[in-house]
Amino acid sequence: ALCELEQFTFKPAVTTDGFRVEIAANIGTPAEAKTALEHGAEGIGLYRTEFLFMNETQMPSEEKQFQAYKEVVSTMGGKPVIIRTLDIGGDKELPYLSLPKEMNPFLGYRAIRLSLDRKELLITQLRAILRASSYGKVKIMFPMISSLEEWRQAKAIFEEVKNQLAKEGILFDSSVEVGIMVEVPSTAILADQFAKEVDFFSIGTNDLVQYTLAVDRMNEKVGYLYDHFHPAVIRLVKQVIEASHQEGKWTGMCGGMVGDPLAAPLLIGLGLDEWSMVAGAIKKVKQIIIQSKREECEKLIEGILELGTTGEVRQRLEEFLKGLF
Ligand code: PEP
Ligand code: MG
Repeated sequence: ALCELEQFTFKPAVTTDGFRVEIAANIGTPAEAKTALEHGAEGIGLYRTEFLFMNETQMPSEEKQFQAYKEVVSTMGGKPVIIRTLDIGGDKELPYLSLPKEMNPFLGYRAIRLSLDRKELLITQLRAILRASSYGKVKIMFPMISSLEEWRQAKAIFEEVKNQLAKEGILFDSSVEVGIMVEVPSTAILADQFAKEVDFFSIGTNDLVQYTLAVDRMNEKVGYLYDHFHPAVIRLVKQVIEASHQEGKWTGMCGGMVGDPLAAPLLIGLGLDEWSMVAGAIKKVKQIIIQSKREECEKLIEGILELGTTGEVRQRLEEFLKGLF
């Protein structure tokens, strides 16, 4: 069965009725880009840059960041690379920033909030990313956006940095797409507003599930409540994808849900455009996409939207997958 699965690694992910999606990988270090390619990734849907910062004793310089981003972009040879700006705070600490202890770190001084407060960090990072953009296909996304104001501030800094580089005569790709992670319920709910302004969405289910269900993603005591098949989560995902399509934009997903084979028929039915997961999950998810019919997945969704509990959703999906194989 293992070698049977291998044959899907490098196949394009197209359903039997012609719906083509992009399969990408999540990475945390430049070295993982090569692994992603070996596992059949058609791009990088999430480059978590925080590891570059966590393995240091001080802020990595623009040059050091540039070298790391350039390595990923060059390795991918023209395939898209979505670089996420610093997502520190929450469970990820940076000793040299000496961040204050907080009662609720996941609700606190985190990700884009920190980047907008310490603008010099964001400016340095955006300069390094933009410089790397002239070596391949770069896209940028901001983590933990929870209001339009935050997005607009981040976007304004991005535009400022582009002007700066242009004035200095430094090369970069002036058509770099800029998007946001949708991982806070307020942003999923307001997706129609965001869709008018951003180039793309990437749904981060790891946090979206945690915030929607009020379940700490690190706390095993309440782990039984943490499930991306909760009907409330499914409705949010549906709303985000539809809002983006309404404005002619695309939606990706880079949280753990998209690497779960059981979720594949559901995400086909919802029309998810870009799928970014741990490299090891790619071949199995490709197999399911290749053996599915979009039309049937859309019917499946209609039924699932009538269900009220996580258990019923899981059961429905399991039955569907059994029918497929
Ligand atoms: C997510 O929240 O789903 C996500 C992909 O980001 P991270 O896991 O890095 O918080
Ligand atoms: Mg997240």
